[in-house]
Amino acid sequence: MTNKLKYFVGNWKMFGDFRSISILNRLHNFCNKFSKQGKRYKVIFCVPNSLIYFFKKNFKSNFVYIGAQNCHHHYDSNGPFTGSESAGMIKKIGAEYIILGHSENRATGDTNKIIKNKIKNAMEHKLNIIFCIGENLRQKKSNKTYSVLKKQIKESVQKKFNPRNFLFAYEPVWSIGTGNVPKPIDLIKIFRFIRKELKKSFGSKKKFTVLYGGSVSDKNIGAFSSIQEIDGFLIGGASRSSKKFIDIMKKYYK
Ligand code: PEP
Repeated sequence: MTNKLKYFVGNWKMFGDFRSISILNRLHNFCNKFSKQGKRYKVIFCVPNSLIYFFKKNFKSNFVYIGAQNCHHHYDSNGPFTGSESAGMIKKIGAEYIILGHSENRATGDTNKIIKNKIKNAMEHKLNIIFCIGENLRQKKSNKTYSVLKKQIKESVQKKFNPRNFLFAYEPVWSIGTGNVPKPIDLIKIFRFIRKELKKSFGSKKKFTVLYGGSVSDKNIGAFSSIQEIDGFLIGGASRSSKKFIDIMKKYYK
């Protein structure tokens, strides 16, 4: 069993209401027992903004952290952007983490430049950033995976950013919600490449925390657990069920 700190991050996307606090409570109770077995991990749930304040008020845990899933890119905390929330607003209601660059947001207009602005705003408000990158199926089939990842990193990251504020998530778009996952051999190469590119862009030799995301389930987690390059997981669909999420954690450490 690895002794390295591992991350299990849930992305609820557009899911949940106040009653969903029971999922967090079950996770907390599980982690309370599980951490006594000497495992080092961190659990983060990125939930809709409509739930963040309620969870922060009503859910206290030193095991499970709360994050958001996106914010507006405008540099100011306020502005004429109907229906939007800024990083400053999200921080004020209690989020500690924020997902940026998710492929579902890239698909609706988030460019690398927009994501860079979001990163700047999130950093200014002391949110920890879960920065997602990944190629789509067309790009994979035309052997563009590496060039896509390189561009996504280069165009959204600046040398002045502190890598300590980041978790990076490699999320191949063709894997999200499809049940298809990359081969371990490909993942190892891609993770090494991502770390090399991060070093260049950040101009830093620091250690980068890189997660994998895309159709992670209790059925396939075993295959990931032997890949040392992976520092944790970003889990979409399976994070809406405490049982599935707990089974993933248990099976990872089996
Ligand atoms: C995601 O949306 O970040 C994700 C990884 O989804 P899923 O686990 O459902 O593929």
